[in-house]
Amino acid sequence: MRRCGECGQWEPAGAHGCARCARLVDEIVEEGWRAFLEREFGAPEPPGERLIAEMVVDEPDRHVWRVVDAAYDRLTCPECGGRLSRGPAGCAPCDLANGFRYSAIEIDRPGVPPGNEHALRVNVAVTRRPYGISASEVLLRRLSLPALLDGRLPTVEQAQATKALVGKGASEAELAAVIFGDWGSGP
Ligand SMILES: [Zn+2]
Ligand SMILES: [Zn+2]
Repeated sequence: MRRCGECGQWEPAGAHGCARCARLVDEIVEEGWRAFLEREFGAPEPPGERLIAEMVVDEPDRHVWRVVDAAYDRLTCPECGGRLSRGPAGCAPCDLANGFRYSAIEIDRPGVPPGNEHALRVNVAVTRRPYGISASEVLLRRLSLPALLDGRLPTVEQAQATKALVGKGASEAELAAVIFGDWGSGP
């Protein structure tokens, strides 16, 4: 894990407040998108990217989640005018797209514990679209990102203990101590 030069958090836990960390979170899905284009179309920026994005979101269950999330970023929501799936809670097309995204495939990266990619996906999605989610949960989600990217995963007990801390109104420092100290270590 590395400290962000702009906000001092472990990268990219400073998102959204820190623009650099927010870019790094976007980059998690962008790298998946570029790899997909390279593999399927032989170029990282083929013509007709928007059409490709529409094709991907028509069949989200045939693609990995990073590709699907990046595809939604390339489409405009007809209702809120923002990036489709990322608009405010209550925007119907965005809410719908935000649900569809979860039918995409997840494949764990080599060398990480099973389930790490699923946890990463959920935490990335919440960090990129925090609307309608409590501030304490958003805090937990964004603080989880550096540990998950580092290939760590809390045990069920560690995850429950961390959630309980959130429920008790733990401070950011208290949560960070548990996540970066205990997660993925011990029995
Ligand atoms: Zn930062
Ligand atoms: Zn919308």
